[in-house]
Order: sequence, then C-alpha cells, then structure tokens
Amino acid sequence: MAAFDPELIRGDFPILQKLIYLDNAATSLSPRQVVEAQNDAEYNYRANVGRGIHRLSRIATHQYLEAHETLKRFFGGENGTLAFTKNTTEAINTVSLGLRWNKTDRIVTTIQDHHSNLLPWYRLKNEGRVAEVDVVRGLSGVILPEDVEACITKDTRLVAIGHASNVFGTITEAEEIAKICKDYGVLLLLDGAQTAPHLPLNLEKLGCDFFCFSGHKMLGPMGTGGLWISPDVAEPDIPAPLFAGGGMVAQVDGTSFTRVEGHARFEAGTQNVIGAVGLAEAARYLMRLGMENVADHSADLARRMISGLSEIPGVHVYTPSGVPLIGTVSFTLEDVHPHEVAYLLDEAAGIMVRSGEHCCQPLMKGLRLAGGTVRASAYCYNSEDDIDMLTATVEEIAGMVK
Ligand code: PMP
Repeated sequence: MAAFDPELIRGDFPILQKLIYLDNAATSLSPRQVVEAQNDAEYNYRANVGRGIHRLSRIATHQYLEAHETLKRFFGGENGTLAFTKNTTEAINTVSLGLRWNKTDRIVTTIQDHHSNLLPWYRLKNEGRVAEVDVVRGLSGVILPEDVEACITKDTRLVAIGHASNVFGTITEAEEIAKICKDYGVLLLLDGAQTAPHLPLNLEKLGCDFFCFSGHKMLGPMGTGGLWISPDVAEPDIPAPLFAGGGMVAQVDGTSFTRVEGHARFEAGTQNVIGAVGLAEAARYLMRLGMENVADHSADLARRMISGLSEIPGVHVYTPSGVPLIGTVSFTLEDVHPHEVAYLLDEAAGIMVRSGEHCCQPLMKGLRLAGGTVRASAYCYNSEDDIDMLTATVEEIAGMVK
C-alpha cells in the first residue's frame, strides 16, 4: 500500500458499504485478509500444534509459532514472552491470579480503569491476598504520573494502569510511569486493550513489565488476545500459569511435573490456532498500513469529532482537547439518555456507537453520569465523512428534543 488511504482500506471491510461503524473501542471489524487467512488454516492445516508429527501438525505448529513472533515484532517486544489468551481480561487475570502475593502487598490502579483492570485486583484485596488497592482519583481523563507516584508506598508491588482510557480516549504517559515504577522497584502492568490497535509501540523501550491486549480490537478475530511479559521480569515475578495440562509440561513423574519455558507454559490444552493465524494476519495488515499513520488518522478523527460535537447546543463532550488521543470520544446530549442517542444514530443514519457505562462504573459514578455516555470510536477505515455524518445526525437528534 503506497499511502495511507481510508477509502482503499474500506474496500477490505465489506460491511462498511452498508453502515458507519464507530464502535471500535468495543471491537473492531476484521478485513477480508484476516478472514481469508483463517479460512485457509481451517481448510488446509487444521491440526493440534506441538504434538503431532504429520504434515498438517507441522504446518499448524509453524504458523502458530510464527504468529507469536509476528505479534512480538508488532509490539517491539522480540525478547519478551508473548502468550496468547482469549482477550485482555484473561491476560490481566493471568497476572492477578498467577503472581505469588504477600499479604502486605499493595496494588495501584486508577478510577478511570476498565472493570477488567479493577476487579482482578479488588478480588485479591477482598480475599485478603493483598493488603490494599490504592486508586488514583481524577475525573478529567488525564492521569498524571506524579499522581501515580503519590500512591506508591513501600509495600506497593504492582501498578496496573490503562494505557488509554476506553471512555475518554486519552493516552496515559506510560513511559514516564514506567520510569517511576523502575525507581521504586514496582512492577508495571499496562492494560493495552485500547492502545494496541492505535499506537506504534515498542514495549521494550517503553519499559512496562506486563502488557495485556485484545486481538479483536486490532482487526483480529474474536476470542484472541495476549499477555506480553518483559525479558526484565525476574523468575519470581513471572506469573504461574492459570491452567495446568497438555502442552505446558516438560516432564511428568509420578504426581509431580516441570513446566516448559516461554509462552507454552501459559497455553495448556488445545489452543485457538485458527484465531492466532488470523491475529497474526491482522498485525501484518496494520504493519503494512504503518502504525504511525493509523495513530495520526485516529487522533485526527477524534479531534474532528470533538470540534464538531462541541458546537452542538446541549452536547457535552467529556474527551479533553489538546492531549494525545486514540480516536475515541465520549459525550452526552442533554435530556436524552445515551442509549436513546445510540439507538437513534443507528435508526436515522446507520451509525453504530456504544452507549452506557463502558465497564467503568467507578468513573461514571464519579462523573455522576447515571446513564453513562455515548462513545464514538474511530479506526483506520473511518473517514472524515463518517465523522461529519455523526455530527450532523447528533445535531438532528438535538433538534428533535428542543
Ligand atoms: N481494558 C480496556 C481499557 C478495555 O477497553 C477493554 C474492552 N472494552 C478491556 C480491558 C477488556 O477487553 P476484553 O473484553 O477483550 O477482555
């Protein structure tokens, strides 16, 4: 592909001929190439990996291992370990349930984090496995590194923080926070569900210890995601796998066993090989587009949304301006429930957006938004026309309730 051109990209997503898709923060669409790669695997080399000697098994094993390498390359994390999971939620839970906690340990997270990056830590606290979960407050959408630092105590073991907010679309200063964590000898987990699809990343340079992502939000298949572990994480801080079983053992003797090294120790049982092949194709597709281009395009569309929506009487935009953004904008329309706005956007113009609490109840309670927000989230295949149609239709809806 010569230049980044949303019009050309759109050709790979047949459903976009029929509707405007602006619910990418929930899940993205998959291009033809990803679906075809999965079909090819399904038809031509469906087999268990790492076990059989026959031809299909050898091809499937090669493709599956290659998928891990492709994702590591995509994230700039070649020297780390990347284990496939179903999604971000499973990746975060692998860390929360797999680390060997001391009862005095404390964890830092933020009020704007997704339930999937809150509940795994709250559960540890509720079960008495850690002493406390310290929550960085602040409802502006911007988490300041110094506010994270202020929550770190001598007992803090882990900072678990969203790399970008799925409500505001703001990007966290992760490199700065990583430096702070290193200074204090604290582990850093980044919930990368919202940044993996949009940002060019170099995880080794960034300096986090754990990075969790969802393949289905970055053009990959549903049911795919992963956990990346930095090569700097020492063995005592490598999580124990959630599952024991076939494929993750080196030796079984009597009732004892030794685990294999690397990603396989986290991948017991028959894996989603077809999904992994699709996810690798999605990563290759994004690399062809160029993640710098994707990031610029998403941020441009977010800014266009903010300026268009802000001008409509009765609209309140929650996404701040003048800060780095991923393409997601949250807003409300006075006197109209967010679900109603979302319903009308679909009915009137075939525009798909998300409405409600976005799995962020603590944030919504803090903002006193009982019905949550309307969230429009753009991606590489969205055009300026999509955004203008969103703005025009919201204006129409606002006019209807005047
Ligand atoms: N964290 C964030 C910031 C998210 O936006 C999401 C998905 N909305 C998740 C975690 C959970 O992702 P998944 O449902 O794929 O596990």
